[in-house]
Amino acid sequence: MENQIMKLAEILKNSQNIVFFGGAGVSTASNIPDFRSSNGIFSKKLNRNISPEQAVSHSFLMMHPDEFYDFYKKNLIYPDAKPNDCHYALAKLEEMGKLKAVVTQNIDGLHQMAGSKTVYELHGTVHKNYCTNCGKNFDADYVLAADGEPICDVCGGKVRPDVVLYEEGLDQNVIQNAVKAISAADTLIIGGTSLVVYPAASLVYYFKGKHLVLINKSATQADSSADLLIQDDIAKVMRQAVEAMEA
Ligand SMILES: [Zn+2]
Repeated sequence: MENQIMKLAEILKNSQNIVFFGGAGVSTASNIPDFRSSNGIFSKKLNRNISPEQAVSHSFLMMHPDEFYDFYKKNLIYPDAKPNDCHYALAKLEEMGKLKAVVTQNIDGLHQMAGSKTVYELHGTVHKNYCTNCGKNFDADYVLAADGEPICDVCGGKVRPDVVLYEEGLDQNVIQNAVKAISAADTLIIGGTSLVVYPAASLVYYFKGKHLVLINKSATQADSSADLLIQDDIAKVMRQAVEAMEA
């Protein structure tokens, strides 16, 4: 373990263009559970249980907005969540000029809260919401305070989160920026997710750099393709590695 941290610190020292790709494990270290691990909700209207994936789908929002927001507010917005040592370590690497981008599947905005500037949020963010009629923007508090589906205070239109729901496509601009950053990277660190899950699996193809680092608590099928594999807590690993490279 100690040895692996030193190896990672060495890689960070020798890299000039690091990109971090993060999954749910980065957020669970801030006590934000993966919503897919919830039980979903019991829909009174449909009289049956709805899986977490169905509950955050486009069609569920369209057909049962009040139940959608019921689940969404309880399972996707964590207003009191704070960045953890992984977020701070990455912000520091960016400040040092070593890290060029964070690509994340998380929607909690914790990277920006920790000070990261270039963050590509593949699945959007709970902190941006917009009126589907006039385009006015709203924060997460506005959605949390609403009774059921949030309604625009200007035009009365429906307000929805700028989050990519199931059945919806990813934002092509965000994808292009992520691909560009990964293609140019000399080191790609994948943390808190396995390499085999979409879109990590497809994005990693664009990486042509020297060091592919995988940090994940559990083993994954793709472990063998990593140059350095650390099976441990992402927050601890990133903090210790950045501390070691500075020492
Ligand atoms: Zn409006």
